[in-house]
Amino acid sequence: MADFLSLALPGVQKLSPYVPGKPVDELARELNLDPANIVKLASNENPLGPSPKALAAIEKELPEITRYPDGAGFRLKSKLAERFGLELTQITLGNGSNDLLELVARAWLAPGRNAVFSQYAFAVYPLATLAVGAELREVPAKNYGHDLEAMLAAIDENTRVVFVANPNNPTGTWFDATALDAFLANVPETTLVVLDEAYFEFAQGDELPNGLEYVARYPNLIVSRTLCKAYGLAGLRVGYAVSSPEVADVLNRVRQPFNVNSLALVAAEAALDDVEYLAQGRALNTAGMAQLEQGFAALNLEWIRSKGNFIAVNFAQDAAPINQSLLEQGVIVRPLAGYGMAHFLRISIGTQAENARLLEALAKALGRE
Ligand code: PMP
Repeated sequence: MADFLSLALPGVQKLSPYVPGKPVDELARELNLDPANIVKLASNENPLGPSPKALAAIEKELPEITRYPDGAGFRLKSKLAERFGLELTQITLGNGSNDLLELVARAWLAPGRNAVFSQYAFAVYPLATLAVGAELREVPAKNYGHDLEAMLAAIDENTRVVFVANPNNPTGTWFDATALDAFLANVPETTLVVLDEAYFEFAQGDELPNGLEYVARYPNLIVSRTLCKAYGLAGLRVGYAVSSPEVADVLNRVRQPFNVNSLALVAAEAALDDVEYLAQGRALNTAGMAQLEQGFAALNLEWIRSKGNFIAVNFAQDAAPINQSLLEQGVIVRPLAGYGMAHFLRISIGTQAENARLLEALAKALGRE
């Protein structure tokens, strides 16, 4: 048989596949556990369950699934445009915001070009960059967060894309409006900035700068958002990017004609209207974050302060055995060794009961019951 790996593009040969959170069914099979007793706090999913309005919209759309979806996503784009004061031509829809990150890479990156991103930044930035053969420019983090000044300094004439996440996953670190202003004002206009706001909606009030407010001033800015986290539609895969119409035109050239499915389109529209669901999720997240922080403090653990719906805990030792103990107790969290953070586990904020269960299991794993 031919060596298909060596026949693949050089960048693809260097890829290691993204490691997702362990699915509940998989752990149940592996350890012979009852899936109903497993708590999954590993993929930054919304613990509320889906919005009833989204569910009703999906049900109504189900008989139509023999038809192709509206490839232009007119209704969802119209809703987003109205909500955020945008033109339809500024919006690109994606199969999750992950899709949008890949579209950016496909449109602007190639061998001889590079993408700048931070150490400990979301793993898909290097994946999408390598897959199209471009060079990785990873900039050392500062206190686990983005060092925006150092990232600016890393940009050269071949840097087509800079990826920044606010807040970042898996660290939960964030930057404020002053830092974002200074950054955007100094990125060359021929370098695209992807401002990844996948967790934006979990922040309270004006804790984080709103990337959408910068798009009119910076034609090279792409703000990516998702309906998969705070809006609870992870399984359906739907996200959107907001940019100048010129940039959106390029993104729309490389996307699949029907990249967002019909159920996702109607569910996203309904979820955007469910302001109560969003507020409830945000309140649950704030309360859950406080509950976990209190629990970690009681266990004498350190953590990175987070503005996401997750929190990275530092065990000051290899976290793999702790992770293993949690799994055996039916609690799934995310190990971060792949990020070079082997002492950490990332824990998504769950319901009050799920958080309590995690803290209990953690105490047991650490021998501090
Ligand atoms: N950006 C960040 C920072 C993320 O953590 C994630 C999900 N893990 C994504 C983008 C992609 O999310 P989705 O494709 O579900 O919208």
